[in-house]
Amino acid sequence: MLKPWVIDGHCDSIGDYIRGKRTLRLGNEGGHWDLERAKAGGMILQIMACFIESEFKPGLASRRGLELIHSAQRFINENQDGVFLIRCQQDLNQLPSPDKLGILLCVEGGEVLGESLFMLDIIYELGVRALGLTWNQRNALADGVGEQTNSRLTRLGQSVIRRMNELGMLIDVSHLNEAGFWNVLELSTAPIVASHSCAYAVCEHPRNLTDEQLKALARNHGLVGVNFYARFLTEKGEATLDHVVQHIAHIAEVAGVETIGLGSDFDGIDQAPRGLEDATKYPNLAEALRKAGFCEEEITQIFFKNFRRLLLNVIK
Ligand SMILES: [Zn+2]
Repeated sequence: MLKPWVIDGHCDSIGDYIRGKRTLRLGNEGGHWDLERAKAGGMILQIMACFIESEFKPGLASRRGLELIHSAQRFINENQDGVFLIRCQQDLNQLPSPDKLGILLCVEGGEVLGESLFMLDIIYELGVRALGLTWNQRNALADGVGEQTNSRLTRLGQSVIRRMNELGMLIDVSHLNEAGFWNVLELSTAPIVASHSCAYAVCEHPRNLTDEQLKALARNHGLVGVNFYARFLTEKGEATLDHVVQHIAHIAEVAGVETIGLGSDFDGIDQAPRGLEDATKYPNLAEALRKAGFCEEEITQIFFKNFRRLLLNVIK
């Protein structure tokens, strides 16, 4: 069975690391993702999310964000034999590196900025190259999908988009409400990502993207990283590889194969699909896509080429 390279748009594994639960080095410590299993699954780049847990918001969110970034850096420093931090085009050009896994740091939650645009430059200096504007709630930049509002970005949120474009940071709209999504697309001069979302037409969950949103991502040359969370994949809540294939096939139909990536959400989800239980299992998805009629070129696009193109277009 051919094993394609993998770029994955979102994992939450640093949460277990900062709490001292796992080293993220060995495959037998539980969870979904670690270096041993990522490499076994064919991974060449993981976008690692620093997810700011709800109990730190809003007052302590900046501090927690910095702690998470620092932890991720410590993880990278401890594992220099096996990983390297992606900061620039030159780093991206080293992919695929069969020996070292690239790590691109993302903060999930604009609360990290503490309402200061300065903080965006500070986290950039610390090596962060992507920012998820919101989680499910409202913050000083925008509203998340959990709010019953129809608000666009705040003035600060709009300034953040402009500054992220200038710095060459990837704008992540997963969790953002729909009005905010359209506002980002009006403003951004660069492609954007929904790093871990699925298709609303296949599973009606507010975290998923409508066909209009998927088409807009295609026009923007951005992409959606298909999420492996069972509840975003099917209303029934128990998912298999076939459900993931259904979402991919639907997005391919409405927005084109070039708009699809993977965004497992490993270690951020409590239910993964049967056949995709951890980071070793990506080849099973490739096989399921082959059976569904996708050719090798399309599979390599979905598995890593689209994400690499996006990052080369955004990161300076
Ligand atoms: Zn998330």
